[in-house]
Amino acid sequence: MSEYKLTVGLEVHAELKTKTKMFCNSANDPFNAEPNVNICPVCMAHPGTLPVINKQAVHHVLRVGTALGSDLADFTEFDRKNYFYPDIPKGYQISQYKYPLVSNGILNGIAIERVHLEEDTASSSHEGSEGSLVDYNRAGVPLMELVTKPVIHTAEEAGAFARELQLLLRALGVSDANMEKGEMRVEANISISKTDTLGTKVEVKNLNSFRSVERAIAYEVERMTKILDGGPGEIVQETRGWDEGAQKTFSQRKKESAHDYRYFPDPDLPKLKISEIPEFANEVLRATMPELPWEKRARLVREYGVKPENAEVFTADQTLGGLFEDAVNAIGVDRPSIALIENYITSDLVGLMKGSDSIGMVTGTTLADLITMIKAGDLSSRGAKDTLAILYAEGGHPHEIAKKHNLIQKNDIEALKKMVAEILEDKLQKFLRTIQLLLPTTKQAKQRSFNFSSGKE
Ligand code: MN
Repeated sequence: MSEYKLTVGLEVHAELKTKTKMFCNSANDPFNAEPNVNICPVCMAHPGTLPVINKQAVHHVLRVGTALGSDLADFTEFDRKNYFYPDIPKGYQISQYKYPLVSNGILNGIAIERVHLEEDTASSSHEGSEGSLVDYNRAGVPLMELVTKPVIHTAEEAGAFARELQLLLRALGVSDANMEKGEMRVEANISISKTDTLGTKVEVKNLNSFRSVERAIAYEVERMTKILDGGPGEIVQETRGWDEGAQKTFSQRKKESAHDYRYFPDPDLPKLKISEIPEFANEVLRATMPELPWEKRARLVREYGVKPENAEVFTADQTLGGLFEDAVNAIGVDRPSIALIENYITSDLVGLMKGSDSIGMVTGTTLADLITMIKAGDLSSRGAKDTLAILYAEGGHPHEIAKKHNLIQKNDIEALKKMVAEILEDKLQKFLRTIQLLLPTTKQAKQRSFNFSSGKE
């Protein structure tokens, strides 16, 4: 049990979905199997080339800010962040320092410091015998950086924040935000303290899953507590990496301070006055917001009576959420049917999917038809499960599938009555025969009574 209070601030980078890179016309396709094909003199930093701001990328970040209820900048500019590394061909990264596009805002109860726009670096690989290799397909891809205030106090809160941000970026369509692919990268600034003064912070990088975010924070709390309690020694302000295999953090380098980067406004790029661009007006941005994850969750519960845990599933998984809504639209708002749709998706269909993200050949309409058959009594719950499995694997119409595989449940009331009557009649006859065997015959009964009455003789 630690008496130290944990404080965490997160920095999240997300690659934005745009047609072209941040400052040139090269395709934004960092995962192209062929290295160094999406490049041009601008993103390769040839002398004399000039960057041009990608309007779609600016729009994406302003939409994120709108969703977070943030303050959107009217004046903004880009700065050069100077440092040397082979993955940064210009010798600086174009980023934003003093005037980020977005300030403040809140997500999942966590206060946001800022969201700014910058460019991604190239990707280097140090494997193989050829020495280090650099692929510039990613160099210059639009990158959004979101920084929270240091207001997170548990590892779980940090994980929940990152999950909610991923859902938001996907709902807005601004990023696929896949952590395993590095489309969304989380860094955690972690410190512990017994007082209100924050302790020395450590920045942990290479967190490529929500679980590693949570585990790295828990690991750091333990490591720092040992240093502070066990002494002698002190926490070093540094950047640490996360070793997924060992489930440990390891020291990477001493952390640079902002002044080491010699930030200054990029003289090659124009300053932006956001209010001069009609589609960037606050009202326009607000009016074009799609349904946001927290709004969707609330609506599913309110309108359809979906269980909160299932509302979470339908919000987090766009395919399952879409299937649910398509089926509901096909069947109409009828609570019992909706409850069946909800159950068949979250238990039976999810079971058939076996961890994949494919719903097979099932569509909203065919699922609705299946539910209608269950409600009409044409399918038993066993028959419905079998029909769904075939529907998932092969597609087709539920009624035809059930007929073909003899899964239709007999449901003729008159036939049922006749069947019940026959069974009862049969049982009754058997019962009567049994009784007759047990009862004494009339003759026997007479003899007995005679014996009894003449007992004294
Ligand atoms: Mn950054």
